Amino acid sequence: MQQPAKDRLRIVAVWLCRLIVGFTFIISGWAKAIDPWGFLIKTGEYLQVWGLNLPRELVLTGCVSLACVEFCTGVLIATGSLKRLAVWVAAAMMSVMLPLTLYIAVESPVSDCGCFGDFLIISNTATFIKNVVLSALIVYLIIAGRKVKGIYAAPIQWLQIVVTVAFPMILAFVGYNIQPLVDFRPYKLGTNLFGDAGESSTEVYIYRKGGVEKEFTLDELPDDSWEFVDMKSVGDETNGGFEVRDDSGLEMNDELSDMDGQVLYLIVSDPDVQFLSRVHLTNMLYRRAESQDVTMIGIAGATGSTLERWISIAKPLFPVYSAAPTALKQLVRGDAALVYTDGGEIKWKRTLSSMNADFGDGEWASDSLENIRPVDDGRYHLILLSIYLASMIVIYLLSLSPKILRLFVGIPKKIRNFAHSKNEHNTITLYHTMRKNIVAGNWKMNTTVPEGVALAKEVNEALKGFKANCDVIICVPFTHLCPVAAEIDANVLGLGAENCADHTSGAYTGEISAPMVASTGAKYVILGHSERRQYYGETSETLREKVALALANGLTPIFCIGEVLAEREDGTYNEVVKRQVEEGLFNLSAEDFGKIILAYEPVWAIGTGKTATAEQAQDMHAHIRAVIAEKYGKEVADNCSILYGGSCKPSNAAELFAKPDVDGGLIGGAALKCADFMGIVKAF
Ligand code: PEP
Repeated sequence: MQQPAKDRLRIVAVWLCRLIVGFTFIISGWAKAIDPWGFLIKTGEYLQVWGLNLPRELVLTGCVSLACVEFCTGVLIATGSLKRLAVWVAAAMMSVMLPLTLYIAVESPVSDCGCFGDFLIISNTATFIKNVVLSALIVYLIIAGRKVKGIYAAPIQWLQIVVTVAFPMILAFVGYNIQPLVDFRPYKLGTNLFGDAGESSTEVYIYRKGGVEKEFTLDELPDDSWEFVDMKSVGDETNGGFEVRDDSGLEMNDELSDMDGQVLYLIVSDPDVQFLSRVHLTNMLYRRAESQDVTMIGIAGATGSTLERWISIAKPLFPVYSAAPTALKQLVRGDAALVYTDGGEIKWKRTLSSMNADFGDGEWASDSLENIRPVDDGRYHLILLSIYLASMIVIYLLSLSPKILRLFVGIPKKIRNFAHSKNEHNTITLYHTMRKNIVAGNWKMNTTVPEGVALAKEVNEALKGFKANCDVIICVPFTHLCPVAAEIDANVLGLGAENCADHTSGAYTGEISAPMVASTGAKYVILGHSERRQYYGETSETLREKVALALANGLTPIFCIGEVLAEREDGTYNEVVKRQVEEGLFNLSAEDFGKIILAYEPVWAIGTGKTATAEQAQDMHAHIRAVIAEKYGKEVADNCSILYGGSCKPSNAAELFAKPDVDGGLIGGAALKCADFMGIVKAF
């Protein structure tokens, strides 16, 4: 069916917003995950401004979790998966980030907000504007995005999430323990540690007056009316440059940059937090370097008593100089890390702790330092990224095959049920549901008796060779009940009628009563089907009678409800369905209500080929359950099986049945072919 132009425009607009919001979150989460040290340092700056002193492990866990959630939310939004949840998570993040970035834009407590790490540095004002735009797009997605289907089928989305969380977690793990897999800072592999020979940095001082920030060099510092904000080093193009001084304060840059051959620098950017447990390894490393004609030099981000204390503990056999901690943190990530240079050119960098393995097995002494492979040259990142993208493509391709998709259907539901069944064994059962998954066929006025018997036998045989994960029922014309009952195995296949009279017996020519149906061996009866309401004028009043008689004769009513197209379009569908349930069934006791199976069948979807989306079905089923809970309580509502009906077929059953409140289907057209009907049964 051709979609109206308005719908097409909305779909395009939603996808555009999804891509913009999704990719912004993806890049932001990725840039943080790839360099957890950078994010940790930036978060530390914020905490310092607010006077908060939190344990580093806690801050690190928060930083990595935030990066993963941001990345995963971005991927889910960009692919249209978990549509509602993903957008609400993004909205929750924005509700914190928007006021925070407004404050940062106005007050400038930190020089840059760190949204995209070192990958992309944007001004605080630009960050705020970006967040205003994102918030507007997220609000649009909340309003208009629900009805636009995503790329991945619902049953497989949890697998997409697992893979998507794993990717930034691996990035963060390597980034924290070894080095970021991609280096966006000035001291990349291949650059000269001290810039062009002898060239050191110029310090630039940032001051603020009346909300305006300006940079000054040392000889042009402003008067007292300016407030100091920050200081930064500006060097040559290849790196920021930094000053190294010995203990007497003498600058060592010239001497270090003149050094030939290979040098191993131990960089301890913050000797205060340097793990003492690894301090002894530094001298072992020194011996290893010495045996390979590599000069070892320490550079610490401290002077005076802090440096002296560290030296007195580490007792380094190599010279230790000092430099500004900020510059050292830019050079290499980690409290204590190594930078290996050859002729001044950076060959590899890694944390000291990542060298532990080499110390442990005793091989370190013979292993050449020269041969250590850098992790931050982009190769490993490319490999990981390719594996991640390939997995996402494979998951997508898997979801195209209904057969494979079926394997994934209901896995989260099964896990939930497993958790509940575990609860049952405990003394206190918090939540217990007995509702069944059911697939019921409604043959309507189709097939002759011999044809119907043959079809029933075929379904019965197919079910025997296969363990269905749901109850299977066929509701057949009255004329078929007896012969079909004689041919099928009631333990495998349930039998039902499509209607019954609102009287028990008497002068009602042409009618079939509930006791008559029950006497054939049938156990179910469809009541209130929209075709009977529409063509035979069935009202809630007659339906109440029919339900009571069915129950009194041991039949289980499959009670149908659903709105017509006009009611869906004018937005009154929730009210309409609520009224049908209330008027048709709410005269029952809780015990009798517990015997009813409900079937939500939007009339506009019956026999039209137009299915309600899985989300529309889920929304309505949850609404119906809430209506029941209001009247009979949560337990009765949770135990009620609510089936979906309306152009349900093998290709869409899996997605519909994966929804937590959809407990199966009432199947019309597709119940008339054994293969199609079984395809739907197998969706469970
Ligand atoms: C029905 O009539 O109950 C029904 C769901 O029909 P179909 O599956 O053909 O839409």
